[in-house]
Amino acid sequence: MKGKKWYDYLWIGELCYLVLGLFNILFAWLGMLFFTIPLVIAIFGGSKAYCNRYCGRGQLLGILGKKLKLSRNQPPPRFLRSAWFRYGFLAFFMFMFGRMLYGTWKVFTGAPLSKTVTLLWAFKLPWQWPQVEGVAPWVAQYAFGFFGVMLTSTILGLLTMMLFRPRSWCVYCPMGTMTQGICRLKAKKEEAKDGRTGEEDCRTAQAAGQ
Ligand code: SF4
Repeated sequence: MKGKKWYDYLWIGELCYLVLGLFNILFAWLGMLFFTIPLVIAIFGGSKAYCNRYCGRGQLLGILGKKLKLSRNQPPPRFLRSAWFRYGFLAFFMFMFGRMLYGTWKVFTGAPLSKTVTLLWAFKLPWQWPQVEGVAPWVAQYAFGFFGVMLTSTILGLLTMMLFRPRSWCVYCPMGTMTQGICRLKAKKEEAKDGRTGEEDCRTAQAAGQ
């Protein structure tokens, strides 16, 4: 059996992130790492190494679905894999992210801080455990908004894990769609330059949500 590597345990980091945010909302800022690292790897490395190796969320869904058998293990519906849905969901996700940034900007310019976390873009939960003393209100507002984004994607990931295959979230995950798009663009550029196709590097083991 192949030995485990350090990155096989990154799911623990994902779990800690979700728990820490419950105790202090400012930990939500750490989630920026989950946004920037995949993009840096895709832009500079031209590969999907983050999805294939380093994504704690993907690993966690795999463990819950496969090892703990919480998944029905059914193929995800075809539309979930279609380009229109994946790119449409990415556009929607980015639009809502932009709204969250706008909310942060409003607090930066004097609007009152809203101590709520929004789930599934609709349900505003009053957050009982905010530790926001000692930071500028906009810093706290961004944390509330960002934690809502992270919890929303976690809920969707868990739901699709239970209904379909363990990593069905990966089929339409906005970060996965973005990094794959970047990777393919880079592969096309390489191909035009030296004829070598880099498409292989853009594939993921999770393409079918397994
Ligand atoms: S598609 Fe998203 S959740 Fe899945 S491995 Fe990639 S970044 Fe992680």
